[in-house]
Amino acid sequence: MTQSQTPSSLDAVLKRYEPVIGIEVHCQLKTASKMFCGCSTSYADAAPNTHCCPVCLGLPGALPTINKRAVEHVLATGAAIHAETPPATRWDRKNYFYPDLPKGYQISQYDLPLAAHGRLSFQTSEGEVTIGITRAHLEEDTAKLVHSTNDAGRRVSLIDFNRSGAPLMEIVTDPDVRSAEQARRYAEELQALLRAIGASDADMERGQMRVEANVSLRPRGTEPFGTRVEVKNMNSFRSVERAIAYEIERQAAALDAGETLTQDTRGWNEDRGTTYVMRSKEDSHDYRYFPEPDLPPLRVDAAWLATIGAALPELPAARRARYEADLGLSGYDAAVIVGDGRATELFEGARAAAPDADPKTLANWVTGAYLGILKTKPAAAARVDAGQLADLVRRVGAGELSGTNAKEVFAAHAADGASVASIVDRRGFRQISDTSTLGPVIDEVIAANPKAVDDYRAGKPVLGFFVGQVMKATRGQANAALVQAAVKERLDGGSGS
Ligand code: ADP
Ligand code: MG
Ligand code: ZN
Repeated sequence: MTQSQTPSSLDAVLKRYEPVIGIEVHCQLKTASKMFCGCSTSYADAAPNTHCCPVCLGLPGALPTINKRAVEHVLATGAAIHAETPPATRWDRKNYFYPDLPKGYQISQYDLPLAAHGRLSFQTSEGEVTIGITRAHLEEDTAKLVHSTNDAGRRVSLIDFNRSGAPLMEIVTDPDVRSAEQARRYAEELQALLRAIGASDADMERGQMRVEANVSLRPRGTEPFGTRVEVKNMNSFRSVERAIAYEIERQAAALDAGETLTQDTRGWNEDRGTTYVMRSKEDSHDYRYFPEPDLPPLRVDAAWLATIGAALPELPAARRARYEADLGLSGYDAAVIVGDGRATELFEGARAAAPDADPKTLANWVTGAYLGILKTKPAAAARVDAGQLADLVRRVGAGELSGTNAKEVFAAHAADGASVASIVDRRGFRQISDTSTLGPVIDEVIAANPKAVDDYRAGKPVLGFFVGQVMKATRGQANAALVQAAVKERLDGGSGS
């Protein structure tokens, strides 16, 4: 056969197939102690196995107690996604064997999650999308396997139990997601929401938020779902989108070739830009779920739930609406700023430091220069300080710096964290305040605009025009107040000498 298979582009594939995607997110909840014991969760930089006890080591006879704060985080998440919480929920054992699971089961929630039937809305390039959220439940994290080489040169797998028993929330969507972009946007919106309510730091790079995507295709115009594949190991929003796009193309090519897909769990290889088979997927009945006998059912009374709902801070959707209505930001700017926790923090911080600054001007800096750096040089973006941005905007507003100079100053600040004041000094961007430099420029501007001079003498308000011209000629570096006084003096004084 000489027929050559050309790789079908995603666009061509999407004309024939409709992606059906469901997202599962695990996030580490922000609590001081673990889910079922008193061990501290501050183990990020700790030596292995220094944050454990009989409970999280799964020793026989150790009994769990419920972390109330963790439950409250899930209830708050439920309230924020308009979910329902049943009056009584319970814990279940999910049984499986793996070295990182010392008890041989994970305490989780099976058929009575703390939150169910919620939804989350967000903007995409094709408009607003609402995704149904099947459930949000509470469970415990596993230990961490560390693969290394021992002193005798043998490959060994070590277990660090510091993470064992840390509280995790799993949030599962309905199979409502229809594109790789929607999946990324859902994850971004969920992150913004979790950060807003303080449930999780939800940093994907640091494993505090793990996103898994179930992806299947069906021929456009048909109802039944196809065989799904679960994709794991995506460590950034960008890789969520890339992995799903890849998986859509891969499945389409297989279906086009008449292959039958298998329900696999696949991993995303960031460097290769491909997914690979990790294992065939378990079904939930393989886990032999049964109610946890060591914990009582958890009752959530209405008053507790109401208190949590009332204490919710402003959610991203409301914040976007407020930015548009009260601050006059465009829908785009509001969505971009609220869509990224770091951008929101910078914007709010700069507004607090410069309350008189025009919000739109601040927003432009955040959505333009700042997010540009964030995308290409996240380490540099982390150095951007809200107080320094406020200072920069103030200087621009005061006419001390031209827009061009200000962009240069911003980039320099991000490069090494130097203060705006020191950069402005070092680069000689200081405003020009001496009359011997400004005098000739002002004379030139006056000479070049005889009509404006006549207008001025006829009592028209053209002083600002002259100042603007001088600012332009000095690339924004002239002292505006001084220029104004000097122009006025020359025009009122007649000859202008
Ligand atoms: P599991 O227990 O194996 O993780 P779930 O039934 O909880 O399976 O579903 C996991 C996710 O997969 C959910 O987000 C769900 O919406 C999604 N899903 C279920 N069926 C499909 C399918 N055919 N295609 C894509 N996603 C699916
Ligand atoms: Mg699953
Ligand atoms: Zn413990």
